[in-house]
Amino acid sequence: MPVIRVALPLPLRQHFDYLLSAEQQVQIGSRLRVPFGKRELIGIAWQLNPADHYPLAQLKPIIAIIDPQPVLTEPLRQLLTFAAEYYHHPLGEVLTAALPALLREGKSLADYQQYAWQLTAAGAGATTADFKRSPRQLALWQALQPGSLAATELLANHPRKALQQLAEKGLIQQQLLPLTPFSQRGLKQPALQLTADQALAVTAINQTANRFQCLLLEGVTGSGKTEVYLQAIAPLLDTGQQVLVIVPEIGLTPQTLARFQSRFQAPVLCWHSNLTDTERLNCWRQTQAGSAAIVIGTRSALFLPFARLGLIIIDEEHDQSLKQQDGFRYHARDLAIKRAAIESCPILLGSATPSLESLYNCQQQRFIPLSLHNRAGGQAMPRYKLVDLKQQVLQFGLASQTLQSIRQQLQQGLQVMLFLNRRGFAPALSCQECGWMTECHRCSAFTTYHKQSRQLVCHHCGATKAVPRQCKQCGSARLAPVGQGTEQLEENLQQLFPEVAITRLDRDTTRRKGALNSALQSINQSGPRLILGTQMLAKGHHFPFVTLVVIVDVDGALYSSDFRAPEQLAQLLTQVAGRAGRGSSPGTVLLQTHHPEHALLQDIIHNGYASFARSALLERQQTRLPPYQHLALFRAEAVQSALCQQWLTELAAIAKTLPGLELLGPLSSPMEKRAGKFRWQLHLYSSQRPLLHQALTTLLATLQSWALSRQVKWQLDVDPVDLS
Ligand code: ADP
Ligand code: ZN
Ligand code: ZN
Repeated sequence: MPVIRVALPLPLRQHFDYLLSAEQQVQIGSRLRVPFGKRELIGIAWQLNPADHYPLAQLKPIIAIIDPQPVLTEPLRQLLTFAAEYYHHPLGEVLTAALPALLREGKSLADYQQYAWQLTAAGAGATTADFKRSPRQLALWQALQPGSLAATELLANHPRKALQQLAEKGLIQQQLLPLTPFSQRGLKQPALQLTADQALAVTAINQTANRFQCLLLEGVTGSGKTEVYLQAIAPLLDTGQQVLVIVPEIGLTPQTLARFQSRFQAPVLCWHSNLTDTERLNCWRQTQAGSAAIVIGTRSALFLPFARLGLIIIDEEHDQSLKQQDGFRYHARDLAIKRAAIESCPILLGSATPSLESLYNCQQQRFIPLSLHNRAGGQAMPRYKLVDLKQQVLQFGLASQTLQSIRQQLQQGLQVMLFLNRRGFAPALSCQECGWMTECHRCSAFTTYHKQSRQLVCHHCGATKAVPRQCKQCGSARLAPVGQGTEQLEENLQQLFPEVAITRLDRDTTRRKGALNSALQSINQSGPRLILGTQMLAKGHHFPFVTLVVIVDVDGALYSSDFRAPEQLAQLLTQVAGRAGRGSSPGTVLLQTHHPEHALLQDIIHNGYASFARSALLERQQTRLPPYQHLALFRAEAVQSALCQQWLTELAAIAKTLPGLELLGPLSSPMEKRAGKFRWQLHLYSSQRPLLHQALTTLLATLQSWALSRQVKWQLDVDPVDLS
């Protein structure tokens, strides 16, 4: 009897085999319904007759075959198998990351239908004059080309109401969308005349078509990387190839989407966590059928089933959020490189501040380096100025020199951006009598005071509490905020500049759907404005009227124990600074610090990121840190600190006997307690990746059987980017 090995969506590191009857024809990669204990599960047929002998009597037959055709094609199965092995993560959970929810629930693709909008004859005959009083309907009408169908997803950035209104007027109608490869060719808008650097980059990228090659595009902020992407893509679309563009943040998808959609006739779709399950399935189907030409998405877009993938682009490749920080901890850039290798297509990484890993790969001649040295419109790079905060009287955390510069810019009708990487009103409340500070009882951290919502919020575990009236320690009622967050800075700025418009961008102000977009739109209008926010400001946005950037407080990040902290600070500073002077007026960046002599600050302001990165790599080499060694991290969490320590000590004892490893720890995590649990780590370094992997395999096999492994919550993080 044939046996089928099934990948099930379970967090278990073991295989599940089932029986097939002689007449059951199963395609590898298709979904099956199988019994599991008292439940039924949906899994993927993974391998036929994987071994020679089976305890046949113990195997159960499958219940049903769901798909006649595989939903996971061979290249994707190869990628997922690789990912499960590389990250030592259960295959079932890797699958969960890769399949849309509706497919995991067993929705049949046979009854799947998808609709599209089309102009009616009346709609094709309408003119702009018909939409005088409704710009939204006009925009929608213009987005629809006579004679062609637009899948509902393509119109996602148009309000639903406008769709209804045009349909009621009989100008548009719905049709079934045929799932066939896209046939639209050519441009909607002409391409820009490339600069010499851009032209070189586009040529180099196009020379890699149809084979695996990794390229790194290092282009200073505002140098026109997106234009390079667009022009590198154009010839691929003309040959019917598809393109995947990964962006680190969901917030970047709308503006990137708009730029791509206005350039190409071919359909450009987006993929991110705010889509509904149906929208996700639709996008998945359209990539599989080849009717989506370009998909712009966050991390998990790399698992989409492209029919003919011609190029992958990772924008802002240095960004930490490309690494999944919980569960299946994969790095989207690294897995995308593997995907490109499997698909034999090129992959382009872009950034103004490339990761040290990617720069190292260029040095090793694994990646082709491409550079854009200047801003595309000929604008000067912003100038840095250090503002020494020592012995200064500050007004709301701002030096008088800073205030003066802000005032000058505003008077000239220009915009100023203030960067402060702390949301909320103040990092804590403190008792004026005894010095007690509000802290989270579940974490080793203070609780942030949010004035508007009148709450104390722990930014680490999310716990919220009402603001106390009295000090817990001495009973005094004199509690006052200490330190400054964006909410407070906004209030301060209102007081200082009552007549100026202010836009605050942080997780609190952008929680509502569409809030970020409308904030970005108001920023893109000229006129004096103060823009303040957290690192959300650093991410790729184009703010044409900002001429002055103030980094309110750099000091917090200067002295950190994390070996990646300098790299991250340098990236953040360069990216934030890069928002200045992208329009016609030159930009200035003011860095407020108590340590103007600090070597890192001096290096960045005088020599720029590229120079910093080179010396930082040298330092990593001397200290034998990644990318010169490979790192894996075991984390342990438990209510009792001693349990974590004991578990990791036993693990370390075994690891010591394995070849090619260097150990660090067990040590308590930089944030020792979070959400009521103590946290410890063990770092495993090796200069040889295969030895590290062998060691991890051995350790994982051993620890499964320990009783203690059930008392601590543990995780393995391969190539960690966040050591907190
Ligand atoms: P980056 O992504 O490198 O920060 P962008 O792609 O956002 O830069 O480009 C910055 C600005 O320069 C945009 O307004 C873009 O339209 C413009 N730009 C890009 N390339 C050119 C070019 N070749 N000629 C003129 N303007 C350009
Ligand atoms: Zn007190
Ligand atoms: Zn907490």
